[in-house]
Amino acid sequence: MSGELERFRMVIGGKAADARSGRTFESHNPYTGRPWAIVPDGGPDDVDAAVAAARTALDGEWGGLTGFARAALMRRLGDLVGENAERLARLEVNDSGKLYREMIGQLNALGSWYHYFAGLADKIEGRQIPSPNPNYLVYTRREPVGVVAAITPWNSPLLLMTWKLAPALAAGCTVVVKPSEHSPVSTLGFAELVEQAGFPPGVVNVVTGLSRDTGAALAAHPGVDKVAFTGSTATGRAVAKAAADNINKVTLELGGKSPQVVFPDADLAAAANGIVAGVFAATGQTCMAGSRLIVHADVHDELVRLVAERAAAIRLGDPNDPGTEMGPVANAPQYEKVVGYLDTARSEGATVACGGGPAAALGGLFVQPTVLTGVTPGSTVYREEVFGPVLAALTFTDEDEAIGLANDTPYGLAGAVWTKDVHRAHRVAARIRAGSVWINAYRVVAPSVPFGGFKNSGLGRENGLHAIDEYLQEKAVWVELTGGTRDPFTLG
Ligand code: NAD
Repeated sequence: MSGELERFRMVIGGKAADARSGRTFESHNPYTGRPWAIVPDGGPDDVDAAVAAARTALDGEWGGLTGFARAALMRRLGDLVGENAERLARLEVNDSGKLYREMIGQLNALGSWYHYFAGLADKIEGRQIPSPNPNYLVYTRREPVGVVAAITPWNSPLLLMTWKLAPALAAGCTVVVKPSEHSPVSTLGFAELVEQAGFPPGVVNVVTGLSRDTGAALAAHPGVDKVAFTGSTATGRAVAKAAADNINKVTLELGGKSPQVVFPDADLAAAANGIVAGVFAATGQTCMAGSRLIVHADVHDELVRLVAERAAAIRLGDPNDPGTEMGPVANAPQYEKVVGYLDTARSEGATVACGGGPAAALGGLFVQPTVLTGVTPGSTVYREEVFGPVLAALTFTDEDEAIGLANDTPYGLAGAVWTKDVHRAHRVAARIRAGSVWINAYRVVAPSVPFGGFKNSGLGRENGLHAIDEYLQEKAVWVELTGGTRDPFTLG
């Protein structure tokens, strides 16, 4: 059987590597339901080796490169990603069942993250600071934080890795990436390009492993200086604790339960389209899914009708078919979780406006795009992240109530306000407690725009000018100017 599978290897210290244990595991294609690739089942000893390689690179050639040289390598890497977009997109589709049409768009854009952060690599400046004592010249240096552990989830592995890797490389860090056990392959395919781009060995290392212990070993590793994590809030808490034990910097991009707030003056056709994009694109498996519809009572029925009509017409099927609009759920545990949430919603009194269960005719891991109405703010489907194609709708009658409902969640990743009233649009955007708010739009991201969570949705920001700060640390340098000596028993 394994003879038919594509075989991939880890990259440690610039070399293709098998797990030290010799073990492997299979990656399953959620559309075919069959294994399609075989990857190393790395464990804590492979993590040790990767962290050691990253440290050696930091102390070696890479650590001596200027920002200008790092930028040149990053630009080359960005170009290579563009040239290999099709292959990388296929790897992601096979691993996660996401649509080729979405992944090729994502992969075609991915190089721009490396280009954007390459533009920062040669602009990392310190400051000269006025000293109250004129006998000192004081300046700062902004230095790489060191070895970075980048731990990623199974949805959009390369995009979410890039949000960490591009600023880390710009800052001069070295990195050990640990992709999800559910979608490990594209990261291994990507690592081959890092070598082609000419990065010194050990700058980017990838360890794959079936057990969650592999990620845990990396997050807690004493040789790591910073942990950058994307995944669930529960795992994020464990990662933050592990990082705290090592007094490490940490960024966390976690879950969400983002609101779409629709006022009665909104363009309802545009809102319906944005709601479909927010919760049914990527089969709802995105952290920023707009999974709570908070709609004014006057337009509830009309908007739900528009969304349900479009949802019912969504073409489910082969992710590689350009006509397909929604692929399967990415893995069996996630499928069980989504179907379980639908059962719970019904038992808690929600009304199914469309969908409501598995797309049985298609077999496999398909779930119907689902719109639930009559949901209460206390119900499970309104409070918990489903991470699937499930929209939960409820109504409001005034602006304060809408904002109260939007913010009534432990999460704060994203949200949207739909209205033609420019005053209200900005007023409500300011009051939604979330890291990204779209006005009359949904699910737009860019390398230059910060992304991250309020509340339990995360810590720190990825993307944007300041993302690089997460990978730098500041050093103050004091220079005595007189050449004399001073009283050794006084401070300053
Ligand atoms: P997950 O938390 O189960 O796993 C994420 C990664 O952490 C995987 O690589 C996993 O192997 C690893 N891991 C598991 N246990 C670990 C531990 N104890 N220490 C360190 N690493 C460990 O998440 P998932 O199911 O792969 O992804 C789905 C979740 O990710 C959703 O909650 C979603 O909202 C979130 N997500 C957030 C964003 C964002 O940017 N905010 C983006 C995408 C996904």
